[in-house]
Amino acid sequence: AEGVRLQKVLAKAGVASRRAAEELIARGRVKVDGDVVRELGRRVDPEHAVIHVDGMRVVVREDLVYLALNKPRGVHSTMTDEQGRPCVGDYVRDRAERLFHVGRLDADTEGLLLLTNDGELAHRLMHPSFHVAKTYLAEVEGRVPRGLGKRLRAGVELDDGPVTADAFTIKDVGADRSLVEIVLHEGRKHIVRRLLAEVGHPVRKLVRTAVDGVRLGDTKPGTLRALSRQEIGSLH
Ligand code: URA
Repeated sequence: AEGVRLQKVLAKAGVASRRAAEELIARGRVKVDGDVVRELGRRVDPEHAVIHVDGMRVVVREDLVYLALNKPRGVHSTMTDEQGRPCVGDYVRDRAERLFHVGRLDADTEGLLLLTNDGELAHRLMHPSFHVAKTYLAEVEGRVPRGLGKRLRAGVELDDGPVTADAFTIKDVGADRSLVEIVLHEGRKHIVRRLLAEVGHPVRKLVRTAVDGVRLGDTKPGTLRALSRQEIGSLH
């Protein structure tokens, strides 16, 4: 059949989840080309149909893309590098969209970096007031004491102000190293490295494993994938 199901178009446009979009249609709140549509199977041309929900025009942005890169160590968080060093732009060179990276990771940090051409979302996610939770796995020097989580959750003073961990889990403690998971809402430069060094456990290796509802999963560094509809929804 031609076209795309109306509930899918609404979900993709970010109006509501697919289920909630079905509700909107069933309740007669959705118009296509001026007429109320109540049948759930209705297919529309997403590029040309004029869709309204509660009288508000729905703009279907087929051109928006949301990607997750597992940034390898040694790759810079820039779209181009004037000195010719490896950068995240290298992973999307063949794509037609003008993409931005959402925030930055240190060159020697590995892990999840979001890329999008949705400037409005990128801007929002980077704004401190949006409070995006970021999860990191850190291999640190020394044996981390049990009480460290409590201290990090209470807040630690750094040169540029206090930082508070939302969560802290000790994953493993070895002879002279520990593996910890830390969740922060922070975006300050080198924040995880500075925080853990401040409490006596300098970071040896750092991986960002999640941003909000988007998880790195079981991918290899250098992997690029499109976010699922649910993941995109979790960011909005
Ligand atoms: N905190 C750091 O110290 N480095 C990163 O790359 C991200 C968060």
